[in-house]
Amino acid sequence: MNSKRSKTRRQTVQTNPTCPLCGGVEVTTSWTSFAFNYGSGESMAELTESIPTRLCVVCKFEYLDEEAERLKHDAVCRHLGVLTPTEIRRIRKEYNLTRAKFAQLTGFGEASLNRWENGLSIQTHAYDQYLRLLRNPSNIRELELKGSISGTPSQTAALPRGRFRALNLTDSLLKAQKSFQLCKVG
Ligand SMILES: [Zn+2]
Repeated sequence: MNSKRSKTRRQTVQTNPTCPLCGGVEVTTSWTSFAFNYGSGESMAELTESIPTRLCVVCKFEYLDEEAERLKHDAVCRHLGVLTPTEIRRIRKEYNLTRAKFAQLTGFGEASLNRWENGLSIQTHAYDQYLRLLRNPSNIRELELKGSISGTPSQTAALPRGRFRALNLTDSLLKAQKSFQLCKVG
């Protein structure tokens, strides 16, 4: 009965939507063009995105789910010219890093990363530029290299040996210091 819709099929995250009202699993999806405002004042823009509307066959409840939210969020990111949550996640996954490891390597806050990847907040332009640079593996390698020669106290201590060594206040040193002071005054 329901012929193919003219809209192009998108990859659906929720393959088997479940009705949040009655729990029914017979849910149909229709894609509709959805317009919404983003921003305020002069910078306000009307964005349009094709989003899925679910309809429960059993109780006739019609609703939008997280996939619609995600698509709207992606539209905002595109409007702002920044990476989408999926794109950010992809960068991290490219290097097989957990969020904690990626945060440690890049200096991003783990909580921030979590929010960006889940569309709870949008990274600033500067962070976005930084993220883009991290798509280049040689930049990641540079950070890894930097991380391996500095950071942990034992490694740092091994670095400037000789020139800026911490003084051990031994008896002989203290004596030497006293004699120096005496010399100076006398
Ligand atoms: Zn239902």
